[in-house]
Amino acid sequence: MLTRPQNPPPVRAEALATLSAVRGAAQRAGRPAASITLIAVSKFQPVPAIREAHAAGLWHFGENYVQEGVAKVQALADLPLTWHFIGALQTNKTRVVATHFAWVHTVDRLQLAERLSAQRPVDLPPLQVCLQVMLVAEPGKAGLAPADVPALAAAVAALPGLQLRGLMCIPPATADVATQRVHFRALATLLAELQSAGLPVDTLSMGMSGDYEAAILEGATHVRIGTAIFGARPHPTEAAGPA
Ligand SMILES: *Cc1c(COP(=O)(O)O)cnc(C)c1O
Repeated sequence: MLTRPQNPPPVRAEALATLSAVRGAAQRAGRPAASITLIAVSKFQPVPAIREAHAAGLWHFGENYVQEGVAKVQALADLPLTWHFIGALQTNKTRVVATHFAWVHTVDRLQLAERLSAQRPVDLPPLQVCLQVMLVAEPGKAGLAPADVPALAAAVAALPGLQLRGLMCIPPATADVATQRVHFRALATLLAELQSAGLPVDTLSMGMSGDYEAAILEGATHVRIGTAIFGARPHPTEAAGPA
């Protein structure tokens, strides 16, 4: 007979620790904890790990790959989770995403938005959409240039079946907090410009395991955290997104 309490599963402990770290960062930023949504990025992680993270109090999950993501959405349909698509999206895969996800954070061209709009099932609430911005031009990275954001935002906001919520970025990785903050502040400034232009946007999807504290200081409403919750991914070389 077991007399010792069992150790909690590691994912559960890390999920709790991350939730509390995000709350702490919110407090240091002088912001209500409820103004920040923690999206657990579960790419390459198995379904039981997602169940453990949910048991620890996480409700939002992010996936990067269409097939893998949809399989998990279906395997976890018994839980009231909110699914965020955060990967590069090919034009020919929009229908599955429009059908199975609540959010898409990575819209960077009008054609993608038009297809998601046309393919969002009418019996579902509007698909929540962020535009992905490439703040610093980096070869091979996704996202539209800051100068192109206002025009695409206005066009996307007018499409039925979608609700434009705001902006998303993955700035160049750096351990320097001051530099992290410069990038995140630039995204916040872009969002404020859209608001001044009359668009009802409210979302800054920014901050990952290595820089979420800086993102929260600069106004992040959604942080996307994988490694800190689930540990290193099984396939780290593919972690940055599809080629
Ligand atoms: C993988 C990924 C994350 C999570 O990255 P971690 O460093 O593991 O926290 C966040 N956002 C996007 C878009 C990703 O692809």
